[in-house]
Amino acid sequence: MENLQSSTHSVAYGQRHINYSLFYSARCTLEIAVHPDGVVIVKAPIDVEISLIEKKIKKRARWVIRQLNYFRQFTPRTPERSYINGETHLYLGKQYRLKSVQGNKNSVKLTRGFFLVSCREQPAPEITKKLLQKWYAQKAVLQFNDSFNRCWPKFKSHEIVKPALSIRKMQKRWGSLSKKGVVTLNTDLVKAPKECIDYVVTHELCHLIHHNHSPEFYKLLESAIPQWEEIKHKLELSLI
Ligand SMILES: [Zn+2]
Repeated sequence: MENLQSSTHSVAYGQRHINYSLFYSARCTLEIAVHPDGVVIVKAPIDVEISLIEKKIKKRARWVIRQLNYFRQFTPRTPERSYINGETHLYLGKQYRLKSVQGNKNSVKLTRGFFLVSCREQPAPEITKKLLQKWYAQKAVLQFNDSFNRCWPKFKSHEIVKPALSIRKMQKRWGSLSKKGVVTLNTDLVKAPKECIDYVVTHELCHLIHHNHSPEFYKLLESAIPQWEEIKHKLELSLI
């Protein structure tokens, strides 16, 4: 049986600090793992002194930092946009070229590969930006609710309460699950393909049953989406 009580620590290595979660368990060796979300997990035998643990982490610090850097390249980072005509913008994994025109009302439409933004005033990047952001926010509500309804049936049998959905801009993640059971999704996720949205929603729903990234968690995720790794990779590459 593993002791799932963990504590958070930090060890200095050169200019950097490596933050890690420490778990004690009935095991003989020390294990250091770096998870894709940038969390360092250390599993140590019960009764091992913290100084010895830190010594071992320092010994492997170069590898830990290399792993952290590797995973960081995949965290959401939509490139800065200037909102000028000809620039590409994404929706559900497809690219559309921006075309801002003056019209008799403010509107955003997708037509034949274009994001057609009509502005009542003379089109300007700030206005286009505002109109597009509003459009994305509206589509996010629509698409994420659809995704939620697609993914939820697989979890019904677990006797869990259907969580509430919240949508907002997030700096570093695609989604999260709060302790109160609210699934929060990053508005920018609406720029990714539908299967990627479903993957993020399913990932968070799995956390209703397993609150960590344990092997049981991944088993459940795999039973819901057998090809989840492929989709995750697609997501990591789609908004670069
Ligand atoms: Zn997770």
